[in-house]
Amino acid sequence: MAACFRLRSCRAPRLASAPSGRSLRPRAGGLAPAPRPALGPAQPRGYAGIPAGVSAALLRTDGFVGGRWLPAAAAFPVHDPASGAELGRVADCGVPEARAAVRAAYEAFCTWKEVSAKERSSLLRKWYDLMMQNKDDLAKIITAESGKPLKEAQGEILYSAFFLEWFSEEARRIYGDIIYPPAKDRRALVLKQPLGVAAVITPWNFPSAMITRKVGAALAAGCTVVVKPAEDTPFSALALAELANQAGIPPGVYNVVPCSQQKAKEVGEVLCTDPLVSKISFTGSTATGKILLHHAANSVKRVSMELGGHAPFIVFDSANMDQAVAGAMASKFRNSGQTCVCSNRFLVQKGIHDSFVKKFAEAIKTNLHVGNGFEEKTTQGPLINKKAVEKVEKHVSDAVSKGATVVTGGKRHQLGHNFFEPTLLSNVSRDMLCSQEETFGPLAPVIKFNTEEEAVAIANATDVGLAGYFYSQDPAQIWRVAEKLEVGMVGVNEGLISSVECPFGGVKQSGLGREGSKYGIDEYLEVKYVCFGGL
Ligand code: NAP
Repeated sequence: MAACFRLRSCRAPRLASAPSGRSLRPRAGGLAPAPRPALGPAQPRGYAGIPAGVSAALLRTDGFVGGRWLPAAAAFPVHDPASGAELGRVADCGVPEARAAVRAAYEAFCTWKEVSAKERSSLLRKWYDLMMQNKDDLAKIITAESGKPLKEAQGEILYSAFFLEWFSEEARRIYGDIIYPPAKDRRALVLKQPLGVAAVITPWNFPSAMITRKVGAALAAGCTVVVKPAEDTPFSALALAELANQAGIPPGVYNVVPCSQQKAKEVGEVLCTDPLVSKISFTGSTATGKILLHHAANSVKRVSMELGGHAPFIVFDSANMDQAVAGAMASKFRNSGQTCVCSNRFLVQKGIHDSFVKKFAEAIKTNLHVGNGFEEKTTQGPLINKKAVEKVEKHVSDAVSKGATVVTGGKRHQLGHNFFEPTLLSNVSRDMLCSQEETFGPLAPVIKFNTEEEAVAIANATDVGLAGYFYSQDPAQIWRVAEKLEVGMVGVNEGLISSVECPFGGVKQSGLGREGSKYGIDEYLEVKYVCFGGL
């Protein structure tokens, strides 16, 4: 423990294990230069596959380390999930680049933590302003790499930018405490101090928002970050780096090391075991989260884990039917069902069941349009990749083989490639795969239930607990069920619950910690108790 503390201290000597190679230029502010890995061949600066007119400055393909664009020896292809076409090739960062990024972040931390809260706040605000100025271009980048409809991508960019705005405000509201201990000659102070370097590993489904939700809090707290974006969606992380740079965020405070899936394991291991890293913040699957927790254990790093969900959506007999159908549509089909808070199973009470299924099916057929995310009328883009389509297909065929009825959809879409039809299944039972695990796609399975107790028992019969929704007009039932659901977030008569002001996170194996809100910044702060004696 003592050794770890020394390594994480800014006065620590240089680590012998740092990679060799040319040094970065010393920065203004007098920080020691960070080592960097040998440079590979220069990578092309832009990429194809997004509508013309997007600012070339945002179309980055190199890593971003210590305030500089860093090519790697190899590159990996990124594909448009709608067509399968290659959008571009991105620097495939490996162990040396990851170590260099950690070192750069660590060097930067030594001065960033001394920057006043007001100054950190104003830099985050500038970054927010630049995101807003470039919001249309950023949205196009997201649609190109993730396939999500442009309107949803525009929504994501706003949501993402609002985290920077929120944390620029929260940066100035980090308070400590004064405590009066029992001994009369003593006073106690509680200080809140930044943790250090945070390793940030993010998924592809909200490639921009998952980054700013973490990075905004980290930078506001005085931490620095190394981001490893998902292989499928590196471009938004790199566009954010360009804007961070333009905003004047100092070199090394925000670093990005994109990598291929082949290298994710080794890069992840470096980021989660390097003694200079104090904190791991991960959003992704529960399976990957467990691997990273194992890595973190050896050097006892602080962790935030935003992991998988399996959200129940309960419709009680007393529900307002139209509200429930609207909520079901919103919570199920956003990003083609690929969000961790998407409803994953619908539990509908027997009195309202048949009419709910009928109206839900009508709404799906009327309101959802499958297509390329850049087309105006598209509400449902492709799934992210072949594996995702195969999972939905497997859940549908398993359910049908065990007696479920396909009410609408049920198969790959005629557009081919990664497109799947929005699907509604009825007569679903608890032994089916779709009742037991996250589908992460446009599949809505409906289970019929009789009593409130039964619904709550089904909803809680899972080892994850991120979001849960229910519709009821009975105030006593609302209180009972909201308290009994084993989840971190509850929507009561509401299907869209995320906002920067509210705490986001789960219970059970859905994760550890909360992001966004006034609680999010605490994930990057250490509490230090100082005892003043002899008074
Ligand atoms: P994933 O496979 O766990 O990947 C997430 C990130 O982890 C990616 O950057 C991935 O890199 C990286 N990764 C994978 N294996 C790794 C390893 N061994 N070491 C280090 N990094 C590794 O999850 P996903 O499929 O992208 O995302 C979907 C899941 O995320 C769902 O379960 C969803 O519920 C969950 N999610 C949760 C939240 C939340 O806030 N709770 C939000 C969004 C998504 P590569 O891309 O290179 O594989």
